Amino acid sequence: MEPRSGDGRGRLDPSREDEVVGHATIVAAELRDLLGADQLAGLDVTWLAVDQAMPTGDFVAIVPLLSRWVGGTELKRLPKLRIVANCASGHDNVDVVAAELRGVTVTHTPDVLTDATADLAWALILACARRVVEGTELVRSGRWAGWHPGLLLGIELRGRTLGLFGAGRIGQAVGRRAGPFGMRILYTARNPRPEFERETGAVRVERSRLLRESDVLSLHAPSVPETKGMIDAAALRLVKPTAILINTARGDLIREEALAGALEEGRLGAAGLDVYLDEPAIHPRLLAAPRTLLLPHIGSATLEARRQMAAMAVANVRAVLAGDPPLTPAFR
Ligand code: NAP
Repeated sequence: MEPRSGDGRGRLDPSREDEVVGHATIVAAELRDLLGADQLAGLDVTWLAVDQAMPTGDFVAIVPLLSRWVGGTELKRLPKLRIVANCASGHDNVDVVAAELRGVTVTHTPDVLTDATADLAWALILACARRVVEGTELVRSGRWAGWHPGLLLGIELRGRTLGLFGAGRIGQAVGRRAGPFGMRILYTARNPRPEFERETGAVRVERSRLLRESDVLSLHAPSVPETKGMIDAAALRLVKPTAILINTARGDLIREEALAGALEEGRLGAAGLDVYLDEPAIHPRLLAAPRTLLLPHIGSATLEARRQMAAMAVANVRAVLAGDPPLTPAFR
């Protein structure tokens, strides 16, 4: 069995090997400052930094970040594992089939990051519509020559159409924020959301109509085989040349090469992205494309959300180790 880390500074500490108490649990070292001692009581924690390889041993629980792959090989090296408590919304980093075969529960941290992510989607919408980053760059460059009636013209949102691809927790939260801006809402999801429709006047439509009619197209679906690459060259041919594409969901929903092409050729108004196919690498053409606002995957990056995500992940560990059902299973 691998040694535990008592100092918790993200390094395994061989000197602690004999001091094992409680449930052997691996926790992402990056969460250390977000978790209190009371939350970790009874767990024998090994803090594992993102650049450290997964240890082998009798660990019964792991709390990883989205950036750590937990696949068949990793699960095989942890034969006593009972739970992968992802500190993220979603489970893209876990081989759920391998986990199920081994009887390992997989949980995630939905809900607590909904408002933070919806707020960030709106930050991107407003920043793209009003060319906020271009304005900042112009001022800082020293090339701003004063007020001009044609300088950095954007679009007004009132009367425009917000298209939501996916109207789950975050998609609906983004939609609910659209009312005061006077936007009409269309959405695409496999199941209707009657309450959301009643509350906001949103209309459920087919994907092609969503693409054609949206002035702002915001992606809020999970990364699953049916959604991967859904914004490809064909989809981008359907969208309005003035449309703003927002992605705070998952990078692989978009074919980045095709998106870069649409932006380069002026076939898309703007793109506001928080997530990418191969994070932290970003496609060089996307980096260089015009009217592109790129954020470093900070959808849930508020102190409130991050604290609650860490707390929820650990609460899932406690529940499962106590023999109770997981609080927020990644799938049912
Ligand atoms: P959610 O509540 O599960 O909602 C997902 C939505 O997508 C539902 O409306 C679902 O409706 C729809 N959907 C699923 N499969 C679909 C398909 N094949 N075609 C069309 N619609 C489909 O998820 P959420 O909590 O809102 O999260 C949304 C996304 O944001 C996820 O990808 C999550 O990983 C990501 N996220 C990113 C950040 C960030 O930091 N940027 C933070 C949090 C979450 P139906 O089942 O009815 O189709």
